[in-house]
Amino acid sequence: MVKKTDQYYKKILSDIQYQVTRCSATETPFSGKYCAHNEKGIYHCICCDSPLFSSKEKFLSSCGWPSFSAAILDDSINILQDHSHGMNREEARCTSCDAHLGHRFADGPPPAGIRYCINSVSIAFKHSPKKQSAIFNPILGYKDYIIISRYKNYLLSKDNAINIILLMTSVYITE
Ligand SMILES: [Zn+2]
Repeated sequence: MVKKTDQYYKKILSDIQYQVTRCSATETPFSGKYCAHNEKGIYHCICCDSPLFSSKEKFLSSCGWPSFSAAILDDSINILQDHSHGMNREEARCTSCDAHLGHRFADGPPPAGIRYCINSVSIAFKHSPKKQSAIFNPILGYKDYIIISRYKNYLLSKDNAINIILLMTSVYITE
């Protein structure tokens, strides 16, 4: 897990971003910029830039916050039991930096029935990089692409499958 000081987060975050992600506050419903946002891309943690949700799993709900039916990777979100405010809820935190993101509820769409209810201020949207996904889609799943995206400069100089697969093997060992 990424360990940073409160001073660091106060410096890089706006006041509302800090209050939500580091102090578990909640933004006002229907106020967030990603509530009705429907472009294709990835939502990253505002604190540590880890990819958390894909637009593929985003759905419109009437709850007032951005809603997702799944995390981008099984282990990208850490679920904790939250008994605050007289309720029993599942709190969703970024696995990498422990940022509070929102909550997870069991009233999402089928088949999983999951709804991640996420504060807009805790995430940052980035468009899918079209050039790279065109190279990798025939070989890799999209989630695998996310893992290796940090090696994009190296990968872009290698355009055959063998090199990419060999590199992926080393990525999984060193991650
Ligand atoms: Zn994070």
